[in-house]
Amino acid sequence: MKCPRCKTENGNRTICAKCGYYMYRADVMNRKQMTKGQQAVEDTKIVGKKVGKVLKVVWMIVVLIVTSFWLVAGMVWLVSMLGGG
Ligand SMILES: [Zn+2]
Repeated sequence: MKCPRCKTENGNRTICAKCGYYMYRADVMNRKQMTKGQQAVEDTKIVGKKVGKVLKVVWMIVVLIVTSFWLVAGMVWLVSMLGGG
């Protein structure tokens, strides 16, 4: 199947390899074998990959924040313990 946007031949792919165009949406009538459920699965796969990448970054940031928070909290506790003597 040719991509309607960039005219790249993509064979049986539903998403253009070059520009990422969702071809099964452009001509839903020609692809009746793909039900709405299957489209939803495809969408979930694509979105899942993107969300997975974002989640990894978010998770790293959260871990960094929590770790630094506990480091600071521990240092404050130490200082107060030593200072309070
Ligand atoms: Zn394309």
